[in-house]
Amino acid sequence: MLEIKNLSMEIEGKHILKDVSITLEQGKVYALFGPNGSGKSTLINTIMGIYKQSSGSIAYDNHYLDDKQIDQITRLGISMAFQHPPEIRGVTLHDMINICLKRKQGTALDQKTKDLVTRLKLDSFLKREINVDFSGGERKRADMLQILLMKPKVLLLDEPDSGVDIESLKTICKELQDYITKNNASALIITHQGYIMDYIKVDLGCVLFNGSIRCYKDPREIIKDISTKGYAECVDCPNLTKDVGTK
Ligand code: ADP
Ligand code: MG
Repeated sequence: MLEIKNLSMEIEGKHILKDVSITLEQGKVYALFGPNGSGKSTLINTIMGIYKQSSGSIAYDNHYLDDKQIDQITRLGISMAFQHPPEIRGVTLHDMINICLKRKQGTALDQKTKDLVTRLKLDSFLKREINVDFSGGERKRADMLQILLMKPKVLLLDEPDSGVDIESLKTICKELQDYITKNNASALIITHQGYIMDYIKVDLGCVLFNGSIRCYKDPREIIKDISTKGYAECVDCPNLTKDVGTK
């Protein structure tokens, strides 16, 4: 279980996250909504130790993550997918697969990995440098491959459905859902339109607004509220509270 309590974070005096509390239970999938600039990516980056919080705590499986670096956090079983997966020149997808699997460079792919590469339609990308001249959907498929190979217990996914065509989205989601089910993993998925919920079973939705998480309820109701009334009205939903946990 990943437990975030009263997390605040500021950059250059500007409060980006204010007193955020959220608990991710094992085996559960959460959708995180919020307008552009509300702090969704910052939240994930702070959990991963890329940004440091100014106050509050992040605990996972009896470990406090507060002073840990990204590699230590990854080793504990938490992985993230970037909103914009970066180009890594000089490193091929095959090299990266061996890094994810903690194998020596040059190691040939085993059959199970090859099958996953094929299912994600990435066979012809193995010799290419990571994300260099990849399309949006290709980047997201390659990113999903790397995450799944690391065998995380918690997946933090920053807009896995943005810039992805429907066929690629289905491909990504099929692997993601199978992985979550088989491994009883949990996931926090940042999404705007929620298309991903057509292919992934999401248990609970929440909204980050003005740096705080306020509203927890059925994700489809949240989308309806956002499209009919706007984010501000979601914040006023009956479940309004900042310490509500997962209820
Ligand atoms: P979201 O993912 O919800 O769209 P972000 O977490 O990316 O929002 O950003 C939240 C706010 O924090 C934005 O106003 C953004 O400009 C600001 N921000 C994020 N990172 C930095 C940074 N390194 N320096 C200054 N401002 C930042
Ligand atoms: Mg973002």
